[in-house]
Amino acid sequence: MAKRDYYEVLGVPKNAADEEIKKAYRKLAMKYHPDRNQGDAAKEAEEKFKEAKEAYEMLSDAEKRGAYDQFGHAGVDPNMRGGPGGGADGYGGFAEAFGDIFGDIFGQQRGGAAGARGGRQVYRGSDLSYAMEITLEDAALGKEAQIRIPSWDTCETCHGNGAKPGTKPITCTTCNGQGSVQMRQGFFSVQQTCPQCRGTGKIIPEPCPTCHGQGKIKQTKTLEVKIPAGIDDGMRIRSAGNGEPGTNGGPPGDLYIEIRLKKHDVFERDGDDLHCVVPISMTTAALGGEIEVPTLGGGAAIDIPEGTQAGKQFRLRGKGIKGVRSSYPGDLYCHIAVETPVKLTEHQRKLLKELDESLKKGGAKHHPADQSWFDKARNLFS
Ligand SMILES: [Zn+2]
Ligand SMILES: [Zn+2]
Repeated sequence: MAKRDYYEVLGVPKNAADEEIKKAYRKLAMKYHPDRNQGDAAKEAEEKFKEAKEAYEMLSDAEKRGAYDQFGHAGVDPNMRGGPGGGADGYGGFAEAFGDIFGDIFGQQRGGAAGARGGRQVYRGSDLSYAMEITLEDAALGKEAQIRIPSWDTCETCHGNGAKPGTKPITCTTCNGQGSVQMRQGFFSVQQTCPQCRGTGKIIPEPCPTCHGQGKIKQTKTLEVKIPAGIDDGMRIRSAGNGEPGTNGGPPGDLYIEIRLKKHDVFERDGDDLHCVVPISMTTAALGGEIEVPTLGGGAAIDIPEGTQAGKQFRLRGKGIKGVRSSYPGDLYCHIAVETPVKLTEHQRKLLKELDESLKKGGAKHHPADQSWFDKARNLFS
């Protein structure tokens, strides 16, 4: 039986674009899928499929297509094909074809493959993460920071090809220079990065002594980072293109700077609000008075009223932090802690005892909470 014309097999015109050829092939691959062609139809479907696959392989390769256009079937030999999974088993062809098709989809989902260039897998570089610890003050006001991050320069010894001067990289025999191989997973196969050449499609028999075959040399560079005012713990700043370089000319990844807030001596942050504990003396709590409290923008005063109890909160409006997405700054909450005096002198002891007796004479009036608690407790025991 005479071999059919490849364009005829795929049902595309002689001037069809690559995309059109690919589309036509996918359609045929679906049509002759063994799931849809059981029993008697299976054998014919497989033949049809192999025919379409061969046509696609020839026409999707610019060089082979050129030869075919010029010389017809005499110009190309479909058996001249290396690489794994030559389709010797019955379904090898199918699995491979679906690997081609689904490999594209999986590739995009993985976020790794950004398409093929020169027949090799092109990968976007990995994202890098950098943890940066900053003070609460810096988080509140923002700052310019300098960080040292890894960067890669082309190796000057080998000019980036990774081979020892005087030698050359050779085409990887495992993937035939494709950079990827088909891995069978049940019926389907998925495209995976070639383990031999790690996707480069090339093997370096004698690696460059300077870069050990990497073609690039890791260095560090200083990056200026602008920390926006109001940034909070756990937020990330993206620095586009400062991640690891891509493979086979793929774009670089991004750098993410993750902010960690250092513990502050005085303030605890809760979103845009700040909290702090303010110790006051027993006498200030009883007599009242003005006290100084710290804020991020300097000091402020609180008027402590007479008879202030421990645990009382005072809110200073607008003395918190203005978050990166907030219109107004938060508040500062001062939590009052009454400090019991320690290391008393004899004289102070005497004064306190006198005071205590005087207070007791006043009855429940001076300690209303104490009296009501005592009453409740007594009820429990009786
Ligand atoms: Zn080198
Ligand atoms: Zn390879």
